[in-house]
Amino acid sequence: MNDRHNNFRKASVSAVADEVLGAAVRKTAELFVSMRAASIAEFAGFEDLRDWGRSRKLEVSGRLEEFALEFANRVEAAGAIVHFAHDAAEAADIAAGIAVKQGACTAVKSKSMTAEEISLNEVMMQAGVTVTETDLGEYIIQLAGEKPSHIIAPAIHKDRNQVAQLFHRFLGTAPGLDVDSLVRAARKTLRDRFLAAEIGITGANFAVAETGTLVLVTNEGNGRMTTTLPPVQIAIMGIDKIIPKISDLPGFLTLLTRSATGQTISSYVTIITGPRKPGEEEGPEVLHVVLLDNGRSPLARGPFREILHCLHCGACLNHCPVYRAVGGHAYESVYTGPMGDVLSPLLWGMKAYPDLPDACTLCGRCAEACPVRIPLPEYHRKLRILRAEGQTPWTAGASGAIGANPLLYRANLGLLRQILAHHKWLLNGRTGGALEAWTTCRELPRPKAGPGFRAWWGDRERGRL
Ligand code: SF4
Repeated sequence: MNDRHNNFRKASVSAVADEVLGAAVRKTAELFVSMRAASIAEFAGFEDLRDWGRSRKLEVSGRLEEFALEFANRVEAAGAIVHFAHDAAEAADIAAGIAVKQGACTAVKSKSMTAEEISLNEVMMQAGVTVTETDLGEYIIQLAGEKPSHIIAPAIHKDRNQVAQLFHRFLGTAPGLDVDSLVRAARKTLRDRFLAAEIGITGANFAVAETGTLVLVTNEGNGRMTTTLPPVQIAIMGIDKIIPKISDLPGFLTLLTRSATGQTISSYVTIITGPRKPGEEEGPEVLHVVLLDNGRSPLARGPFREILHCLHCGACLNHCPVYRAVGGHAYESVYTGPMGDVLSPLLWGMKAYPDLPDACTLCGRCAEACPVRIPLPEYHRKLRILRAEGQTPWTAGASGAIGANPLLYRANLGLLRQILAHHKWLLNGRTGGALEAWTTCRELPRPKAGPGFRAWWGDRERGRL
C-alpha cells in the first residue's frame, strides 16, 4: 500500500528559509549550467544529436517490453542470472534474497537511483546486510542519514563545513578539513569497505539490448571497484534504461555527460557483458541483473511516455528556478526537480504527490536543457488538468461565472484594481496579513495610475490616441 503523502508547499517553506542550503544548491547548479553551456557551444551537432536521441528513445518506449525481453535473453546468454521484478518490493526482496543466499553480511554500492526507488538499503539492512555507499556524495548523505537531493550530486545541499563536521563525527577526522583532505579521508575508509565486501550493487546508466551489455558512468572510479572487487554483482535497473544497439552508446554517452557536467566523456565508463570469463582478470564471478518494471510498462503506453526517456543527467534540475530555490528534499521523492515533478505522481500516484505538478513556473528552461527533449512543461500542465478532472472547486466555479458575464467581469476587474492599488493595507496586519505568505518571495504588482487597459483600448479604437 502506498502511504506516501508529500506536502511540497509546506516542505518548500522551510527549504527556502535555509540559507546554507540555498547557497550550496545555487552554487553547484550554476556551475553545472555554465559547464554544460560551454561544452555544448563547442559541439556543433548537439541539437541534431538531441533529435536523434529523442527518436531513438521513442523507438525503445514504443516497444519497451520487447526490448526488455531482448536484453534479458542476451545478458542471460552472456552468463548473467536475470530476475524480473514487477514492483519495488519484489526487486528489493530479490536483491536481499541473493545476498542472504550468498551468506553475505557486507555490500558496497555505487550510485543508483533505481536502488533508491526500491529502498534497497533499508531492505538489505533488515536482511542483515550492511550496505556502504561508495559515491562520495551518497556516502556523505548516508553518514548524515539523509536521502539524495540531486540526481547526480546527492549532497548538493551541503557545504564543505557541514561535510567536515560529519566526517569529524563519524570518521574521527580533524575538524574543519579542506576538500582534498575530506576526499582523502573518504577514500581511505571506502578502500577497506571495497576489499571486505561480499556483494557489489550497481545500477546501470544504459543497458544494450543487442549485446546484453551494462554500462556504468562514474567520475570517481567507485563503479569500477564495485564491479571488480566483490565476487558477486547485483545490477538493479529500470527497463527504461535500455538502448537498442551498441552503436547507439557513443551518442547517448555524449548527450548524458555533456548535459550533466559538461564533460566530453565521464572519467570512467564501465562496460560489462556478463560475468568474468575464464582467463579474464576483472569483473564479478557471478552477475545478477534485476529488471524493474514498477509501472514503466503502462507508462510507456500512455500520454506521458517520454518521461521514460530520461537519461538522469540532472540538467532540468540545474536549470529549474523552483529546484534552485528549494533543493531536492522538499520534493520528498527519490526523483526531484522537473523530471521528479512528473515521474513521482506517475509512479506513486497523484494522491501521494498532489503538489508536485505545481512546483513549476512553466518557464520552459527544463525542456530547453533536456538532451532528449522531454516536454516537461507540457507534462506539468497535463498533470494539473488530470488532477483537476472531476473536481470543481468553488474558485473554478466562481471564476467561470465571472468570465462568462461581461458586466461581472468588468466590475470584478475594477474591484481588483482598487485592491491592488491599496495592497499595503492588505499586508499591514489589519487583515491578518492575508497575502503575506505569498509576497515573502514575490512582488505584488501595483496597477499604474490612470485608466485601465480596456479604457485605453476603447480610446485607441475610437481614434482618440
Ligand atoms: S528530464 Fe531531461 S534534463 Fe531532466 S534529468 Fe531527464 S534527461 Fe536530463
